[in-house]
Amino acid sequence: MTWEMVMGLEVHLQLATRSKIFSGAANRFGAEPNVQACAVDLGMPGMLPVLNEQAVRFAVMFGLGIDARIGKRSIFDRKNYFYPDLPKGYQVSQFFEPIVCEGTFEVPMPDGDLFSIRITRAHLEEDAGKSVHDRFPNQTGVDLNRAGTPLLEIVTEPDFRTAEQAVAYLKALHSLVTYLGISDGNMAEGSMRCDINLSLRPAGSEAYGTRTEIKNVNSFRFVEKAIAVEAKRQQELLEDGLSIVQETRLYDAERNETRSMRSKEVANDYRYFPEPDLLPIVLDDAYIAAVSADLPELPGAKRQRFIEQYQLSNYDAAQLVSSLAMADYFEATVTACGEAKATANWMLGDLAAALNRENLSLEDAPIGPLDLAGLVARVADGTLSSKLGKQVFEGLWLREGSADEIIAQRGLKQVSDAGALESLIATVISNNPDQVAQYRAADEVKQKKLIGFFVGQIMKASKGQANPKLVNELLARALAGD
Ligand code: ADP
Ligand code: MG
Repeated sequence: MTWEMVMGLEVHLQLATRSKIFSGAANRFGAEPNVQACAVDLGMPGMLPVLNEQAVRFAVMFGLGIDARIGKRSIFDRKNYFYPDLPKGYQVSQFFEPIVCEGTFEVPMPDGDLFSIRITRAHLEEDAGKSVHDRFPNQTGVDLNRAGTPLLEIVTEPDFRTAEQAVAYLKALHSLVTYLGISDGNMAEGSMRCDINLSLRPAGSEAYGTRTEIKNVNSFRFVEKAIAVEAKRQQELLEDGLSIVQETRLYDAERNETRSMRSKEVANDYRYFPEPDLLPIVLDDAYIAAVSADLPELPGAKRQRFIEQYQLSNYDAAQLVSSLAMADYFEATVTACGEAKATANWMLGDLAAALNRENLSLEDAPIGPLDLAGLVARVADGTLSSKLGKQVFEGLWLREGSADEIIAQRGLKQVSDAGALESLIATVISNNPDQVAQYRAADEVKQKKLIGFFVGQIMKASKGQANPKLVNELLARALAGD
């Protein structure tokens, strides 16, 4: 029997507001414990929440970014549960009427093809504090700095069938929210936390199977691994004739396994009811139109524009718009050199590889857009072969100067002078009479293979500086006896 995987994702996104969602305490990561929690965040009796307008705006920006219906009237609800890091004994969330309703999201897959997933809803809520297990021996501390941090919980329909799609979605979501500037999207710091709902069903069947929910997976790679290992676990149970327990599970990266945290049956009575201390959020058309008018160009639109304006492939365009820094770098380079495809190739090839090798981000790259443009231009005008271009790239990376300075210092000019090349060719031909005879006796297909030998000799004689295109042309003529 073959099984089909079905997944829906829930992402908790921390919004990059300056203060918390219901208090004036700072919303910043990494401070000493409990210095950024005020009386409201601590749940002191008599404290009243005041809604942060920026959090509302960010939620609406997100909704517009995925073409969702915006809830004109949304309300906050209390989600009641007991936990040490939740001082009030409830979390203020939006259960009955979310601020962002149904939407769709076009996700580029790694090959550049798009697939569409449905967003069920996105709602505002406050984050809880953190239990700290590694600070005191045999004791657990509570850090309430995170309590009251604004979150947007983004829920999808069960539209994912492969781990690759789930990861592509998360990457696209990361691009979208960082373009919008509503979150830093930093998964390692918990700004973007992903819960994976996963079930299996026999291939071809309509009905969904029983799902489990894997909580708080905090990197793209772990998402992929958690999905693989949980699908395998479910498949083994199902093939042994056992059933899946609907429950919340935790992914343990060290052991690469998922473990039961709590079963849904006992955990899900949250006794939701409308939050009496907050008014409904009422948004009029003028407000939504104003937010919409302020939106920057988003990844989807930019990708489309790159394809049309620069004649890039789907693949190149999807890669280049994945971060704003990369898209801006690309456009600055092309503005300076006018060569879109070559710029894309350098950026996605040598530059990406070098950044990866040295674990640097594009912002910290030793090669800026103007440096790269200088190199691209010299390859385009024939001064450099692509092979010599790689040496100039290396020089740029080592900050030896501009492309032109490196060409001069390292003596890398490509030899495109026909006279100089012809004399090299003549020498190589007269030194290799056997190969020449063999070439002249061969048919066209074989000649194409044999010519490589001569090209190699000439490149060697010119120390790699002969213009390979010109060499090929002149050589074919010389060998034909012209
Ligand atoms: P809950 O109320 O328990 O959170 P929801 O119905 O809101 O459950 O679904 C939560 C997430 O689980 C959604 O992303 C949804 O797409 C996904 N989901 C629901 N049913 C299944 C299923 N059978 N298999 C996989 N994912 C599912
Ligand atoms: Mg849920």
